[in-house]
Amino acid sequence: MSQDERIVSNTLREDDVEFDVSLRPEKLDDFVGQSKIKENLGVFMEAARKRKEALDHVLFFGPPGLGKTTLAHIIAKEMQANIKATSGPVLERAGDLAGLLTNLQEGDVLFIDEIHRLNNVVEEYLYPAMEDFFLDIMIDKGANARSVKINLPRFTLIGATTRSGLLTSPLRARFGIVERLGFYAPDELAVIVKRSSALINIAIDDAGAYEIARRSRGTPRIANRLLKRVRDFAEVKADGLITKDVADQALKMLNVDSSGLDEMDNRILQLLLEEFDGGPVGIANLAIAVSEEAETIEEVYEPYLIQKGFIKRTQSGRVATKLCYEHFGKALPSNKLGKAEQGLFE
Ligand code: ADP
Repeated sequence: MSQDERIVSNTLREDDVEFDVSLRPEKLDDFVGQSKIKENLGVFMEAARKRKEALDHVLFFGPPGLGKTTLAHIIAKEMQANIKATSGPVLERAGDLAGLLTNLQEGDVLFIDEIHRLNNVVEEYLYPAMEDFFLDIMIDKGANARSVKINLPRFTLIGATTRSGLLTSPLRARFGIVERLGFYAPDELAVIVKRSSALINIAIDDAGAYEIARRSRGTPRIANRLLKRVRDFAEVKADGLITKDVADQALKMLNVDSSGLDEMDNRILQLLLEEFDGGPVGIANLAIAVSEEAETIEEVYEPYLIQKGFIKRTQSGRVATKLCYEHFGKALPSNKLGKAEQGLFE
C-alpha cells in the first residue's frame, strides 16, 4: 500500500491510534450523530445508575471507525466505572480472560473489540461469566484435574464487531443491548470535522469542513484522518485556513475523488467492471484481483460501496450497478439493462 492509501484506508497504524484517542469525545453529549443509539444508551445508563446496578452487556456492530470503541469509553465514564480494553484475538487462553475478569471491580466495563474473533474455548468461559457472574476454571491436569468456581463482580461486557453475522448465537443472545452503528451523514461528519479542527488548532470554514465530511466515506475516523492531511496542505500552501477549495485540492492529491471514493474503492469498482464484466463475481476472486484480503473488502470497503449504491450483493456474487457504470463514464451493456438494478446478472 502506498503512504496515501494507508492514510485514506481504514486500517489502523500506531500514530493513527494515538490521533484517534486524542480526538475521542468523552461524553455522550459530545458524541455526534447516531441519535437513536445515544437516546437508548442514555435511558439504559440512567436506569442502571438509579438501580445502582451495572449496565447490561452491550454489543456494538458496524464497519470500522464509526465509534464503537469511543462509545465503550463513554459508557464507562458516564457509569463512573473503570474500563479494561482487549480484543478477541488477544485472548488466547481461558487464563487470559480469567486474569482480566478477576481484576474487575463491581460495575466495571470489559471492552472486547473484534469479539467475533474469540476462540471457542474462551468464548465458552465467557457464557457463565456474562450470565451468572462466575468462572468455572479447570486447574491441574490428569487425575488431579478439578474445577474451581470463581465468583466475579457484576461487570458490563461491551463487545464490538464489524461482522455481527460471524458471532455465534449463544454469545449474541447474552447481550441485553445490541446496537448497530450506521454510516454518518455529511452534515454530522462536518460537525465532527469542525470539533476536531478546534482540537488540533487549524482554522476551517463551514464549506471546507463540509467538503472533507462529504468525502470521508461516512466514517468519523476517515474524516479525522483526512483533516490531518488537509491541515498539512493548508499550512504549507494556503495560509493555514481550510476552505472548500483547499480541501478539494488536498483531497485530490490523496486520491479521494469528488464523490468521496478513495483509491481502493475505485480499484475495486474498476476491476469489477473491467475484469469481471460487471459481475457477478465472488468476493474471493475480487479480493485476489485487487490484492487485498477478502475479509478487509467485506468489512471495510464493501459496506460503503453497497450503501452508496455502486455494487450489489447477490446470491451469485457482487454485481456493478448502473451508478457504478456511470461513475466511470460507461454505458450499462444492453444485456444488463434493467437487470443491474435488481441485481440479477447471470
Ligand atoms: P470503531 O471502534 O468503531 O472502529 P472508534 O470509536 O475507534 O471506531 O472511532 C474512531 C475515531 O473517530 C475516534 O477516535 C473518534 O475520534 C472519532 N469518532 C467516532 N465516532 C465519533 C462521533 N460520533 N463523534 C465524534 N467523533 C467520533
